[in-house]
Amino acid sequence: MRKELLIIGGPCSAETKEQVLSIAKDIDQGSCAQWFRAGIWKPRTMPNQFEGVGSKGLKWLVEVKNTTSLKVMTEVANTRHIEKCIEHGIDGIWIGARTTTNPFLIQELADCLKGIDIPVFIKNPLNPDINLWIGAIERFSKAGINNISAIHRGFSFVDNGAYRQTPYWQIPIELKRLMPKLPIICDPSHIAGNTKLIKHISQTAMNLNFDGLMIEVHNQPKEALTDKKQQITPLQLKKLIMGLVIPKTNHADLNSITALREEIDRLDFQLIDILKQRMELSFEVGKIKKANNISILQLKRWEEMIKTRLEIADNKNISKDFIKEIFESIHQESIRVQGNDK
Ligand code: PEP
Ligand code: MN
Repeated sequence: MRKELLIIGGPCSAETKEQVLSIAKDIDQGSCAQWFRAGIWKPRTMPNQFEGVGSKGLKWLVEVKNTTSLKVMTEVANTRHIEKCIEHGIDGIWIGARTTTNPFLIQELADCLKGIDIPVFIKNPLNPDINLWIGAIERFSKAGINNISAIHRGFSFVDNGAYRQTPYWQIPIELKRLMPKLPIICDPSHIAGNTKLIKHISQTAMNLNFDGLMIEVHNQPKEALTDKKQQITPLQLKKLIMGLVIPKTNHADLNSITALREEIDRLDFQLIDILKQRMELSFEVGKIKKANNISILQLKRWEEMIKTRLEIADNKNISKDFIKEIFESIHQESIRVQGNDK
């Protein structure tokens, strides 16, 4: 049986009452989502951009709540937003990435929610810092919020490659390890920044046992006032959800997996031994450099090293990006070791 996924769909921004109600109706009829999202107050990078319709949009969300089977949520970024949501009976709130980055603000929002147990969905901070994310989760938890979920929406790097925001899956995986009971939802829309990558990112999230998806859905994506490149239609949402392959999380330990894991353990331990020997040699080189007043960083040697290693990787059919990342990290550690006086 398919694991029950928590699906949140809806436009980046609420724009008009008609737009909100028509998207909500179509999502509801596709019957693949439990929650409807729409931003009312929009955090924009530049001034003079559309900053959301404001409080009047809350009435439209209430109408969605009253006329469909969907629960409704919006983003809050200050205590006034929270008060307005509670006043209108909004079912849930999410904390945006920019807000999670700021512990002062998070504490204010958590204090404002004391005594009100509303579901809170906490997006990761913009920068890849797991502690800021955990700190925000703990602040809401300490304020008495029992229904907390995390939303992974990618991280901002200098170079995000093909993505709008780099997924950097290590962080949500580590969050799952540290907080196994916390539901984690993936937001492929803000990771992708375009519609082409959404399916692939959603499937990756399923492969990693995420508990649900938050996806931006618009009935006329091209006309959207915000994030128009990344919004899909309600019909595309339905097809996407139906097409997901959802793996089982628990498997009886298969003998074949156990044997392979033992072999992997053996190789990993060997890798650690080899790295230790490698760093001991670096340390010896460092001593000679110091005695002869030679700089630690030797660019020419580094260029030759990375070139040969990438050639070998290529011959062995192993990802060059992966090998490059590993050797950059080894080189960095080697420089650190050479600078250490023991
Ligand atoms: C959004 O969900 O529309 C949004 C602004 O998200 P984030 O905080 O992830 O940028
Ligand atoms: Mn958006």
